[in-house]
Amino acid sequence: MKRFAIATMALAALGGAGSAAFLYSDGPSAMMAGETASAPASLDAQQGPSAAPDAWGDIEKAADPVERRLVSLGRGETLMQVLLEADVPQPHAQEAVAALKAVYDPRRMKSGQPVEVMFDRTGNEDRFVGFAFQPAVERSVSVSFNGVRFQAAETAKKLGRRAVAAQGVIRSSLFESGRAAGVPMNVLTELIRNYSYDVDFQRDIQPGDRFEVLYEQVVTEDGEVVAGGNGHILYASLTLSGKEQAIYRYEDSQGIAEFFNAQGSSIRKALLKTPIDGARLSSGFGMRRHPVLGYSKMHKGVDFAAPTGTPIYSAGAGVVEEVGPKGAYGNYIRIRHNGEISTAYAHMSRFGAGMRRGARVAQGDVIGYVGTTGRSTGPHLHYEIVKNGQQVNPLSVTLPTGRNLEGKELARFKGVMANLQQRFNAGGDQVTDGIGLVATTPPTGKSSTPGCDRKRGC
Ligand SMILES: [Zn+2]
Repeated sequence: MKRFAIATMALAALGGAGSAAFLYSDGPSAMMAGETASAPASLDAQQGPSAAPDAWGDIEKAADPVERRLVSLGRGETLMQVLLEADVPQPHAQEAVAALKAVYDPRRMKSGQPVEVMFDRTGNEDRFVGFAFQPAVERSVSVSFNGVRFQAAETAKKLGRRAVAAQGVIRSSLFESGRAAGVPMNVLTELIRNYSYDVDFQRDIQPGDRFEVLYEQVVTEDGEVVAGGNGHILYASLTLSGKEQAIYRYEDSQGIAEFFNAQGSSIRKALLKTPIDGARLSSGFGMRRHPVLGYSKMHKGVDFAAPTGTPIYSAGAGVVEEVGPKGAYGNYIRIRHNGEISTAYAHMSRFGAGMRRGARVAQGDVIGYVGTTGRSTGPHLHYEIVKNGQQVNPLSVTLPTGRNLEGKELARFKGVMANLQQRFNAGGDQVTDGIGLVATTPPTGKSSTPGCDRKRGC
C-alpha cells in the first residue's frame, strides 16, 4: 500500500481530482510514508500507465497538473484533425496550430508522428492547454497556453559524435556482409568507394575475407542516433586472401582530410581499380551464362558484372577521346589520361551527360551506365587499360601514387592512427550522459543548433 500512499500524497499536493490511473503510478518505492512528496514524485504521479514516454523541454515545467493524451497522425491526416479528434475545441485547436507555425510548419509532420495533447484537469472540465511532439530525436516542439494566448517553443538537444565499430566475414559481397553487420548504407558506399583505388571488387573478394570499420555517428547527449547522422569512416580494414589493407582518415595540419595507409601514403591512385559502383557488382562465383572474365591473351580487358543502369565511373581524370557505338564493343567510351595511358569502357546501355569528344572528366565522374550492347551475353562493363595504343593487363600498369606523409606530419598521423586503432579495439566510443561525445553540428536541417534554443539563444 506504500504506492497508494505516495500517489494520494502527490494528489493532495496538487489539489487535483483523483483517477484510477494514479493508483498505478510508479513512485520511488524507497520513499517512506510521511515524507514530503517531492517534485519528481508529483510528476510521476501525474503519469498513468498509458502516459507518454518522458517528454523533455520546457513544457513539463510550465504546465503542472496536466494530463497528456498521446495521439498520432494517421495517413494523410493533419495536426488540426488529430487535435479535433482528441476533443480539442475548434477555436483553440486553430489558435494553437497557428501559433506552431512560428517555429514549425505543420505540413512537414509525417504520418505516424506521435503528439502529446495536454489538458489541465484542475477545473470542472478538462481544458486544452497545448501539445508537444518531437519531429526528430534531437528536436522538440511545443505549443502551450500562457494564460493569454498560445505560444510555440522549440528546444534542441546537444549533439555529439561518437565512433561505432563493426566487423564481419565476407560471405558473398562486402556490401551484403556489411549490411548484415548493421553498417549503414552510406558508410558502406564510402568504404567501397575508397577501396576502389586498390581493390578489384569483382575478382579480389573471396568468401572468408574479413572487414573492419570504425565510423562516426551523430547522436544526442542521451545516445539516440540522429536521422541522417552517419558520418565519415575513421578507420577501415579489409583482409583479402590473408593480406590486410588498413586505411585511416587523417586531417592534416592544414585541415585537409584524406585516407592514408599504415605507412602514411595516400590511398588515392591515378586510376580506380573498380571503375563502377562496387556495391552493385554481381558475385562472379558460379556465373556460367555470363562469365565475368579477367585479363588474358584472348580477352584483353576485365569484366564487371552489374545490373543494367549501374553507374560507370571514369577511372581517372582525363579527356574523352572517343565516344559512340563501336562494333562488338557496343556503346564505347575511351578516355585519355596522359600521353601514354587511356582507359576504355564497353557495352554501355547509355552514355553519361555531356560525354562528347574533347570533354574533360574528373576521376569518379559518371561517364555511362552498364548495358549489354555489342557482342555481349549479359549486362556487364568491359574495361580496358590502353598503353601506347595496346590493351595491357591492368596488373602490369604501375601508377603514380598520391601524397606521402613525412616528418612531423607523419609523426602526427601515427598518433591519430594509434588512437583510431585503440577506439576500434574498444568496440567504438562508449557514451554515457553525453560524456565521451565530441561536439558537432547537426547533419541535417537548419533550425536546430546544438546547445541553443530560440528563446534563450546559445
Ligand atoms: Zn569483356
